[in-house]
Parts: sequence; C-alpha cells; structure tokens
Amino acid sequence: MQHPRYWINSNENGLYCEALDAYIDPVNPVHRAIITHGHADHARPGHGEVYATPETMAIMRIRYGDNHAEKQIELNYSNNISLRNGSLMFKPAGHILGSAQAVIDHSDHRLVLSGDYKRSHDPTCAAFEVTQCDVFVSEATFGLPVFKHPPINQEVNKLLTSLALFPERCHLVGVYALGKCQRVILALRELGYHKPIYMHGALLKLCELYSSYGVTLGDMIPVTEVESLKSLAGEIVLAPPSALHDRWSRKLPNVMTAMASGWMQIRARSKQRKAELPLIISDHCDWPELLQTLKQVNPQEVWVTHGREAALVHQAQLMGYQAKALSLIGRSDGDDDGE
Ligand SMILES: [Zn+2]
Ligand SMILES: [Zn+2]
Repeated sequence: MQHPRYWINSNENGLYCEALDAYIDPVNPVHRAIITHGHADHARPGHGEVYATPETMAIMRIRYGDNHAEKQIELNYSNNISLRNGSLMFKPAGHILGSAQAVIDHSDHRLVLSGDYKRSHDPTCAAFEVTQCDVFVSEATFGLPVFKHPPINQEVNKLLTSLALFPERCHLVGVYALGKCQRVILALRELGYHKPIYMHGALLKLCELYSSYGVTLGDMIPVTEVESLKSLAGEIVLAPPSALHDRWSRKLPNVMTAMASGWMQIRARSKQRKAELPLIISDHCDWPELLQTLKQVNPQEVWVTHGREAALVHQAQLMGYQAKALSLIGRSDGDDDGE
C-alpha cells in the first residue's frame, strides 16, 4: 500500500492525500488544505487549517481577510512538516510570487504536485526547482503541441514599439492583478522603460505586496491621482481585463487596447477581449517546457491535471513514462483570474 495511487484520490472537494489527511487546492471548505498559490481557482477561503508559503498566505489575507482560515500555518520553501503519516515540503513553481510545488513523502515514495508552473524568465518570483520523485503530477493548461510562448521581451517590445509609433494614444494594457501585472511591469523596466506606469485602483494592493517582498516595480501612479486624463496620451495604463471596455476606460484619451495573456495566441480569445494589441505572455509552461520538465524530473509516473490532459498523457507515454489523467472538478482554465 505504499505507492501514491493508494494514498491520493479525488472527490467532490478536489485532490485528497490520505497520508497527510489533507486536500490540495480544494474547491470547497475542508478541515485541512495545502494551497499551492494565491490564484482564485486554487486558494479559497473558509478552511480549518491552511498550509501555504508566507507569500501565498499574505495574498489570501489580502483577498479574503485576516480570518480566511481558522489556523494558518506558513511553510517556507524547502522546510519540512510532518502531518499524519507523511511529510510536506514546498519547492518554488516559478508561476507567481509564493507559488509552490507540493512535495509529499510517505513510506519511501515521493509525489510532487506541480501546482501551476512555468520555466521561462520571471524575476517576480523564485524559479521552478526540479525535484526528483516517483510520481509527478503536472498541470497541462497549455498542454497541446500548438502552444509555444514567445519570450516576454519580444511581446513587451511590441507594446513599446506601438507607443513610439502612436505617441498620441493612451496604451491600456489588460493584466490579471496577481502575477501578470507585476511581471509586465518588471519586463518593461528590464527593457529600459522607466517612466511612471499608471494603474487602475484594483491592481494596487497586490503591487504593494510584491514590493514588500522586495520586487522593485518602480514609479506607479494611480489613475485616480491624475489631474487631467488627457495627459495619459502616450502613457502606459494597466487595468484588470474586466475594466478594458467599461465606463472607466472610456474616459481615457484615444485608447489603444492591449491584453497580456497566454491565451492571446488564440485569435478567438484576443477578439473576445477586443485587443488591438494581443501580447502572448503566459505564466504557465508551453508545450516544449512541459516536455523539458518531464525529462528533467524524470519520474516513474506522470499524472496530468488542470487543462488539456489527453495530449500530455499520450506524449508522456511516448517518452516511456506511465501516465494517466487526473480529472478534477472546479478548475477553470484560469482566464478569469490568473492564467
Ligand atoms: Zn495560477
Ligand atoms: Zn490554475
């Protein structure tokens, strides 16, 4: 009874680990939850105990209040904690600030649950750490061979080029508040853009949190503090995707609408967002990164979840791994919160 298949199962609350008597990213309130990161389809309020990295716990407090769970146990990366018959450790997942893979040891077997993860450059969070294991549970949000994400510099350069070509237009960029927003800001800074970046109010709190963890975002000005909105011509304004076409954005001068998301590779999605300037910026692995990760982690078995399972299961089998899909309920494709 040692293999993880005997101590991991899923039910209406999500993925349950019997060895730790805990759910991982459960969709309903449970007595004990391990939370991989702060995006809304993974972190929900109302649990008895929550185990998470300090950063994820801080994000949950911002979003759900100080009392989002009865007991909040913070666990730094690479530290171990014993629960019931096993132990839990977090390793960085490279997805957003505080994002973690859950490493679970029980009776000489190790299971690593990736959570959401990526392998490409992101100075806003700790980079994904390859951790050897028997079973690797991988997400597959972009688990099809067509998904190939360009380097972020290339995409953010499109924004800067447009700004140079159309200096009379206010460049309004749709970004998710947690992760994407801060990543786009740092990418602009890395490309030498040091002017103030103007912000929709809904983005400010999480930017402050990132700053408090040492992520230097530079000069940011809330749009509410701008005296004449006309002065935003030729400037960059960041807003949550939901605000791109609402009354708020209609006050901005001569808007050029951009949208930053991995889904912008799909034309239907960029049309849906009415994005004149779609920027393919993803916080998940693309197909080559998924394959690279399987090779490096080199587990005996791959379980695929959270996205397009079938293609990655098939690919993992071709690569010589045992593989299966682990279907979970209540997971969105992330287009509404984090992507
Ligand atoms: Zn996520
Ligand atoms: Zn997710």
